[in-house]
Amino acid sequence: IFVTFEGGDGVGKTTQASLLEAWLTDAGRTVVRTREPGGTEVGVLIRDIVLHHRGEVSPRAEALLYAADRAHHIETVVRPALARGDVVIQDRYLDSSVAYQGAGRVLGRDEVRQLSLWATEGLLPDLTVLLDLDPVTARARLDADDKPFDRLEAEKESFHARVREEFLALAAAEPARFLVLDAAQPPTELAAAVRDRVAALLA
Ligand code: C5P
Ligand code: MG
Repeated sequence: IFVTFEGGDGVGKTTQASLLEAWLTDAGRTVVRTREPGGTEVGVLIRDIVLHHRGEVSPRAEALLYAADRAHHIETVVRPALARGDVVIQDRYLDSSVAYQGAGRVLGRDEVRQLSLWATEGLLPDLTVLLDLDPVTARARLDADDKPFDRLEAEKESFHARVREEFLALAAAEPARFLVLDAAQPPTELAAAVRDRVAALLA
């Protein structure tokens, strides 16, 4: 099965991905934990461009770079893992592109979604966990943890508000694929909710 974690910067995606990985590994499952952008060697190069040259890269070029990272990652890492029967846990996927490039950069939901579906030959996750949190709280958390807040630093508050609203709209449009959680809850409670859904998928 293919599980993705989505949400703005600082909502706790990486923490939840690692808690889910630990639980599945303890249960004897083979897990491939990965992320976008940057889940492959080529992807690390693309990640460097999109994160360290942001502002210089035009919005359409940015969308194409994320799509290129995704195309390569899905073909060389994710599809082979799913074919082996492994569980794939991934930090960010196509919903991030629709939210950040589609809504944040105002390139359009359908255009960006179609680009991702072309890049991945239509691969959709079995489950997408959306960790929803107000961007101001998320930023405070990143500051407290002394983590870099890439997008949060570079973009205006309205950008993050559009991203958050788009994630919620995507979840509302595909309720069967999404589990939406209030990321202000304690990490252990969030992890339990994620485990329940994943257990049901594996049963
Ligand atoms: O999740 P992670 O911290 O790896 O994301 C790296 C940065 O890339 C974040 O600042 C995120 O907002 C941004 N990003 C983006 N568009 C995407 C995926 C990530 O702007 N499609
Ligand atoms: Mg993270």
